[in-house]
Amino acid sequence: MKKVILIKNGELVLKGLNRSTFEDMLIKNMKRRLMSLGSFKFTKAQSTIMAEPEDEDVDFDEAVERIKKVFGIVAFSVAGVTEKDLEKIKEAVMDFLGDELRSVKTFKVNAKRSDKKFRYKSPEICREVGGYILSNIPSLKVDVHNPELTVTVEVRDKYVFVHGNQVKGAGGMPVGSSGRAALLLSGGIDSPVAGYMMAKRGLVLTAIHFAAPPYTSPRAELKVKTLASIVSKYSGRINFAVVPFTEIQEHIKDNCPEELFTIIMRRLMMKVALRIAERDKCQALITGESLGQVASQTIGAIACTDAVATMPVFRPCIGMDKEEIITVARKIGTFETSLEPYEDCCTVFTPKHPRTRPILENVEAAENAVDFEELIERAVEKTRFCSVE
Ligand code: ATP
Ligand code: MG
Repeated sequence: MKKVILIKNGELVLKGLNRSTFEDMLIKNMKRRLMSLGSFKFTKAQSTIMAEPEDEDVDFDEAVERIKKVFGIVAFSVAGVTEKDLEKIKEAVMDFLGDELRSVKTFKVNAKRSDKKFRYKSPEICREVGGYILSNIPSLKVDVHNPELTVTVEVRDKYVFVHGNQVKGAGGMPVGSSGRAALLLSGGIDSPVAGYMMAKRGLVLTAIHFAAPPYTSPRAELKVKTLASIVSKYSGRINFAVVPFTEIQEHIKDNCPEELFTIIMRRLMMKVALRIAERDKCQALITGESLGQVASQTIGAIACTDAVATMPVFRPCIGMDKEEIITVARKIGTFETSLEPYEDCCTVFTPKHPRTRPILENVEAAENAVDFEELIERAVEKTRFCSVE
């Protein structure tokens, strides 16, 4: 039987973004995500978007898995398509939902008739289809209030759709509807989660990773790329930038007071990231920081880092416990990769006693003693770009 995906889209009560723009963006994102599986046709109809495969042999289950990860979808259902004929509808229901019906104890039939010319009215469709199901599976019971499975029969203009319970979508807003932001992506647990959370709010991602060869290995960089690729299953294509950070770090180590090392390094990371973000037309930065988690994430340290920021810095994990962040990391599939033990540039020269309450003037004075401008320029010049999807 021919199958389609019926998609219910997300936050439609949007200010500033109208429904049609929202839907077009969502369709574009879904098309791109399904592209490698074959061609799909998308049709807007009433409050749903229908995705139908145009090739016979598409991997439909894989298409469903991918749709589950597209932001902007509240719920969807996989529907069987049949003709506008009551006997055909009954057969289609048993054909398409027979296995599911056999695995539950209670059900009900819900009929929607957008074609009012169809000769059976909704209550008749429910009665006829319900009766047919019961005659095939006598052990089933009808429960109109709290059924385990709701069989929906939608009579539309040309076809009839039959489907079971809706599947929960990824929620959020279509990627692209909020603009682009640059994610500072380490190999840790938090930053991939931060990227996922902000893509869910409609941001396209550019990922910036700081590498410190030879202190950090190519394998560490590959791990971060793998993380970006997992996040891209949700966010769509990610522009991925690798910044050579060794020279800057060595200059900090040789010229700045040890207890300010981390904070100065974070400010310089921000400065470099801002340049790259501007080049890539980003309007904000994203980090995986969580308040109080480490010395560089106290209010004072964050204030010192933010003092260099010329665009908003989004920190979606700021109020989350590590446990909560890990729950998301597991859900989106980044946790295992994040646990792989590779060195990060942040851990290369960690001071024994970092300042948890750095004073901005002191930090600026220490920083101004070194001419970092040229080093920043060089790091930006030597940044390597690729795209991850
Ligand atoms: P994560 O788990 O995301 O690595 P963390 O708890 O280890 O975070 P830090 O190492 O202090 O915290 O880093 C804080 C944030 O700074 C990270 O979430 C990330 O956004 C950014 N960051 C840290 N190291 C790098 C790096 N090598 N490249 C890019 N961004 C980084
Ligand atoms: Mg880290």
